[in-house]
Amino acid sequence: MRLCLRLMFAALGLLALPVQAAPPPLALEGWEYRWGDSPPGPDGSPAWLTEASGWQAIDFPSNPPGRQGQQHAWFRTTLPDGEWRDPVLYITSIDLIGQLYLDGELLYQYGEFDADGRGDFAGWPWHMVELPEDFADRTLHLRIFSYYTDIGLWGEVQLMDRIDGLNGVIQGSAKALAVGAFCLLLAVLALLFALLGEQRRGFIGIALFASASGLMLLAEAPARQLLLERALWWDTLRAASYFTLPVAMGLLLAHWLEGTAARWMRWLWRLHLAYLAGALTLVQAGAISLSLTFPAFDALLAITLPLMLLLALWQASRLGMEQRLVVASFVLFAPLLLVDMLVAHGFVSWRSIPLSSGALGFALAIAGISLWDYRRTQQRLAELNRSLERQVAERTAELDRMVETLEGYSYQDALTGLKNRRYFDELLAHESRRADREREPLSLVLMDLDHFKQVNDRHGHEAGDQVLRQFATLLQAHFRDSDVVCRLGGEEFVALLPGADPADAAARAAAVTRAVGQHVFLWGDKPLESVTLSCGVASYPAHTAEPLALVGLADHALYCAKRSGRNHSVTWSPDAEGDDSRVAALG
Ligand code: GH3
Ligand code: MG
Ligand code: MG
Repeated sequence: MRLCLRLMFAALGLLALPVQAAPPPLALEGWEYRWGDSPPGPDGSPAWLTEASGWQAIDFPSNPPGRQGQQHAWFRTTLPDGEWRDPVLYITSIDLIGQLYLDGELLYQYGEFDADGRGDFAGWPWHMVELPEDFADRTLHLRIFSYYTDIGLWGEVQLMDRIDGLNGVIQGSAKALAVGAFCLLLAVLALLFALLGEQRRGFIGIALFASASGLMLLAEAPARQLLLERALWWDTLRAASYFTLPVAMGLLLAHWLEGTAARWMRWLWRLHLAYLAGALTLVQAGAISLSLTFPAFDALLAITLPLMLLLALWQASRLGMEQRLVVASFVLFAPLLLVDMLVAHGFVSWRSIPLSSGALGFALAIAGISLWDYRRTQQRLAELNRSLERQVAERTAELDRMVETLEGYSYQDALTGLKNRRYFDELLAHESRRADREREPLSLVLMDLDHFKQVNDRHGHEAGDQVLRQFATLLQAHFRDSDVVCRLGGEEFVALLPGADPADAAARAAAVTRAVGQHVFLWGDKPLESVTLSCGVASYPAHTAEPLALVGLADHALYCAKRSGRNHSVTWSPDAEGDDSRVAALG
């Protein structure tokens, strides 16, 4: 509401610009001072308001020589003439509280004075003191109380039109507000990057520095008072953000430096963090005045900031390109802070220091370098990821090959290299379905070496093994590619003949039986006595409507072949029992 009124007022003032321009702002001159506080005069008002003697000349109503612990000072001057339509006295700041009298009348008061003329710190706002139209040639008295390092007025003290004052406030804030807002945006972005996880420390440092710079610039911008007229509140924010700056700078530099320099830098920012926490706690507890935390902080910073600079420069030669850029931007910013401090304490005459440009430069340099570094790390990670993916793909292919080989082993008979029983079972199920579906014949020849036990008994197990291997080779040569020969176990083998009818299968079984009988099996180079084979043959659909039943039927036929003298093949038939009785009879 107040802001709206002020802005309306300012706009009206602009519209009503006079035909003849108002004189420019004029700095007050001809100041005089005297130490101490005025005793009351006969009418109760300060006696010094009417006392002509005891005053000494001074250029500016601030910090007269020979303070010697004085907490009261008086200043006076005579106001010049001027054609201002709405004259005001603009004061940048008062250390710490004060009263303004015009020709003996109280014109303006800042802060609360007690009976002893003392009072609490009330913040450092700017002041716009309204003057009566006939102010010219009248005497202005200034009564000041301060327990701060400075006593009196600070910055500029000028006579001007109110509209010029407000314009000055707005123009003097524009850059700080723009940079401050940008810094706060940067802080939010850095915080987001910090939350993403990569290089967390670096980005927390940037977020802290950018938010501290942003808030400090906002809290220092004269326009703050137009937003919210709470001087102490703004100064507390200013203290908190200002005191955070070296913490953030130390954090950033420690992140970029290495070894001893990084360790010292960590100690320095921790020291500042301790100061920040301690000072603000004591102020909140009412133990000390906020105003006194500034000079103590500046004294600390006057030591730590050059130390930080030295540490950064000490390692500069050993640093990489990015680190050097960080150090260079710090080297540009740190002296600005130091000069600003010297101005604040009156070591250097008052001037406006482009702190906002320095903060902006430092924040931008750090943010740029960090983003660049971040991008490079991301690229390296992506590359690593790609190479890992490649390795995983290679390993997977290798593993697939191994699994394939192992699977092969699990379907293979180790002794003969033929397919094993497991393979046969799966193959039979598959071929049975196919035969069933396509109405194709499917035959099965079950084979068992005769009296094989005797081979083992006579020549040993090794010899038996060799016979089994030679038999397997013979079988493979004997059957067609479309037939599959498997070892079921021991000296028992099977051949599955897709497409073969009973006659084909019987002929093949008879042929293989003959071939075994004629084959000379060897044990080493030594020929063994003849080995013979018995076979049982069964066929689908000639002998059964269910292909899976073939094994049982062929087994039965084999049994018959054994019973009927071995060394021959028997095809299953329903009257196989008859054969059995014939065999039995022969036996
Ligand atoms: P039949 O004519 O009735 O088939 O007589 P057989 O001796 O061949 O049959 P039996 O079932 O009585 O004995 C099978 C023998 O096969 C017993 C075992 O010593 C031998 N045998 C089984 N597996 C192997 C093997 O892997 N290697 C060797 N060397 N011998 C085996
Ligand atoms: Mg057997
Ligand atoms: Mg046998």
